[in-house]
This record gives sequence, C-alpha cells and structure tokens, in this order.
Amino acid sequence: MTDNSNLHVAVVGGGPGGYAAAFLAADLGMEVTLIDPEAHPGGVCLYRGCIPSKALLHVAKLIAEARHATNWGVEFGPPKIDLERLRGFKNSVVARLTAGTGQLAKQRKVHYVQGRASFENSNTLRVGRTKGAEERLQFDRILLATGSRPALISSLKLESPRVMDSTAALDLADVPGSLLVIGGGYIGLELGTVYAALGSKVSIVEMLDGLLPGADRDLVLPLHKRMEKIFDSILLKTTVASMQEEANGVRVTFEGPEVKERQKVFDRVLVSVGRKPNSEIPGLEKTRVKVGPGGFIQVNKQLHTDDPSIYAIGDVVGEPMLAHKASHQGRTAVEAIAGHKVAFEPNAIPAVVFTDPEIAWCGVMETQAQKENREIKVARFPWGASGRALTLDRMEGVTKLILDPQTERVLGMGVCGTGAGELISEGVLAIEMGALAKDIALSIHPHPTLSETIMESAEVFFGTSTHVYRPRRG
Ligand SMILES: Cc1cc2nc3c(=O)[nH]c(=O)nc-3n(C[C@H](O)[C@H](O)[C@H](O)COP(=O)(O)OP(=O)(O)OC[C@H]3O[C@@H](n4cnc5c(N)ncnc54)[C@H](O)[C@@H]3O)c2cc1C
Repeated sequence: MTDNSNLHVAVVGGGPGGYAAAFLAADLGMEVTLIDPEAHPGGVCLYRGCIPSKALLHVAKLIAEARHATNWGVEFGPPKIDLERLRGFKNSVVARLTAGTGQLAKQRKVHYVQGRASFENSNTLRVGRTKGAEERLQFDRILLATGSRPALISSLKLESPRVMDSTAALDLADVPGSLLVIGGGYIGLELGTVYAALGSKVSIVEMLDGLLPGADRDLVLPLHKRMEKIFDSILLKTTVASMQEEANGVRVTFEGPEVKERQKVFDRVLVSVGRKPNSEIPGLEKTRVKVGPGGFIQVNKQLHTDDPSIYAIGDVVGEPMLAHKASHQGRTAVEAIAGHKVAFEPNAIPAVVFTDPEIAWCGVMETQAQKENREIKVARFPWGASGRALTLDRMEGVTKLILDPQTERVLGMGVCGTGAGELISEGVLAIEMGALAKDIALSIHPHPTLSETIMESAEVFFGTSTHVYRPRRG
C-alpha cells in the first residue's frame, strides 16, 4: 500500500459523502480533518433526510397495513397516535446512528471539528468552531462535500410556522387537519404519505402532468392509483400562484387549466420543490474552483475541480442528489487523492421512492431510451402473477428489465411494489457485471419471494415465463 501518512486532507461537510470519504482517507493512512456544524457526522441524510423520513415511513406503513388488515379478517381499531413518543422514536434512531458515526470517526482518529469552513486560499481554511475560537488550518487537499438545502420559491415566501420545508415537516410539530404539499417529487410524496397515515387530509399540487416527473409512467401508475386513495386530492398541471396567512390557516390560490377550486385554506403547507447545492462557500472565489449551471461545483470523473488542491462530491456537484451517490463519489475522490487509477462512471445509480408501494429504478429507463432514440426491449412481469405478492395482498406491482435487443444485455431495471428498494440492488449488480437476460433467468431465485419477479421478467424476454402465458405466434 502507498504511504499516505504525510497527506493532510480536509473534508468540508459531514454528510454521507463527506464522512464516507473521511473514513476511507483515514483507512488509507491519511491525516484527516472532518468539518461540519453538527455534533457528529451525518449531514442531511442522517439528521434531516433519509433516516428520519424512513423511520416515520415505517410507522406509516404499519398504520396502513393495520387498516388494510380488516380485509384479512383482523380488526385493530383506529390508531391512537402519541406524537411525542413517535417523535422520540425517530429522534432516537437519528441519535443512535449519529453517535455511531461519531464513534467511528474517533476510532479512525479522524480529527472532527464542529464548525463551518471558509477559504482563505486553495490550501487554507478558516474554521469557525461552534464552541471555541476560529482556527486557520492548512491542508494538502480539500474535499468539498457541503451538500444541499431545500429550494424555495421566492414569490411564495411566507414567514409563517404553518409553511414548512422538509426539515420542519420531519420535526412533526403536530398532525394538521389539512396539509398541502407543493411538489410531486419523492420527498413531497414520502412526507405526504407520513402525514396522511397520521390522519391529515393531504393534497398534492404538481405543475407537471404527472407525479414523480422523470420516472417511467408504468412504474408511477400503481403508486398514483394508491395515492388517489390515501390523499384528499392530487392536483396536476397546477401551480400555486400565491399564499396568504389567515387566522385559521394559509389561503392558497391555484392556477392551471384543470383547477376547479381556485382558492383553498390549509392548516399547513409543505414546500417541497427540489434542492439547491450549497456551493456558496465563503472565500471559494479565492480558489480556482468553478461553479457551473444550477450552482453545482464543476468536477471531472476523478471528482477533481479546476483547482489542483480541491475535490468535490455529493449533492454539491450535481444530480442525482442521493446519499449513496455521494458516498460512492466520496470514496472515489479519496482514491484519486491517494493516486489510484479511478473514475466515477457508474452504469447504474439506483433511485428509490420509499412510498407505499415503493418505486425503484436503475440504469437505462424507457423514458430515457425514447429520448435518446435508443433501441431497447422491455420485459415486464406483473405482480398479479407472483405468489409472494399474492400472499402479501399486494398485486399492483410490476417488475421490468430493459434489455439490449441485440446483445440481450441488461441495461436497466424498474420495480414498483412493496420492497422495491431492496429488490433494485439485483438490477444494479446485473448491469455493473454486464449480465445477460439469460444469466438472470438461469440464476435460481428463492421461492416464494418478490425477487422471483426479476427472474421471471428475464423469462418473459424469452417468452418462457412460467407464470405468464404468451400464445405462440404462427
Ligand atoms: C427529506 C429527505 C429525504 C431524503 N431521502 C433520501 C433517501 O431515502 N435516499 C437517498 O439516497 N437520499 C435521500 N435524500 C437526499 C440525501 O439526504 C442527500 O442526497 C445526501 O444527504 C447528500 O449527501 P452529501 O454528503 O452530499 O451532503 P449533505 O448530507 O447535504 O451534508 C452536507 C453537510 O455539509 C455541511 N456544510 C455545508 N457547508 C459547510 C461549510 N462551509 N463548512 C462545514 N460544513 C458545511 C452541512 O451542514 C451538512 O451537514 C433525502 C433528502 C431529504 C431532505
């Protein structure tokens, strides 16, 4: 192994990108300083993103299942929500995980500084400590992992506790009687699902003509149908023109060709219209780092910026803004710093929407292939034909493989259905390993599991799926 002990690296930002990078850098023998305003590493993902939202979604799923159980002859009665204990559960998950990352940093002898960093020059940071005096620190390399924050619509800015971003929504101050979610992306749908399960009447407003813009429509359709049942309303092709605080709520004015009720009052509004990169790092202009369109820091495949001493990773360098992408980039950048021959060029980055049903996809998708005029073959397996889906009483799902018609190579995979987020990893592995449809069809999958739907999708490609009958032509 190369001796990296004389390399002093600073990682600015302790999210899943930053702490994964810092830990690997320490494992490779570098001297590492990790700087973040929180008490422990974790960033948005652990403190106010992936983790708290999934803890609440787990509870939401339980409530939904308990309600549905009447169909199986089991009656639980209406749920009694103790909001303080629910909040306590979510907070305890966050506290436990972040204490764990803090411990892992200590074990690796990563110098963790609770504070904010600004640049003095390409190799010097000023670190304003949360507790204590400002420090001036010198580094050989600096890795920027400053992440992102909720985007705001300036014309809709309303200083009111009734108007929340995702962070405030996760605080779970109360269960509002009515909640409007502005934005039909994954964060809005996930948080809307939580509040609907807890008893709020949730409405979603999305300016485009479908939920989860960008995702393949056949994957979104089963989710849309279910959301129509759990949400009060889904307003598509509709924008919010204005918001006004009143004594008993927020009066919202809608605009759009399909608007039936132009104004409505909601107890609370969740603004969830995307995220903005945190690239306005003080003093960044004293370096050679370039910030490109959308405010993203520009990097090459080694995650190197235009400044020889500075690398950048995660949400601050671009889409997809996902934790696992940030971690992978963080580790790639550290290897590049260590002088290894590496590049960030994945064939598949999985995306998961943790609603009920879940949606997950990776690699080339149909919508994308159509846009690129790329020839593909789609093999779809409906969950109505899956024994496991039947035992779970969740037949609405679908699994599909996107294949190259000539080489029969797996290019992409999409799943809508319960547990889709766990199933998608098989697609990622297949794509990264250059698997063919035959490889998946010939790999014995355990029965009865939802993973069989992946194997049978591959069989559908050959017209030989056990549980899907297709009459022979000719
Ligand atoms: C509600 C919600 C749910 C989500 N769910 C998922 C999910 O299920 N799966 C998924 O993959 N992704 C999810 N995400 C997205 C995910 O959280 C981000 O993609 C991920 O956290 C990005 O990691 P990062 O390391 O780039 O930065 P971040 O996690 O954003 O961390 C950046 C850190 O840098 C700090 N920082 C900023 N500037 C400075 C400075 N000057 N000095 C020191 N520190 C600084 C910030 O305070 C922050 O702690 C979710 C996000 C939200 C909001």
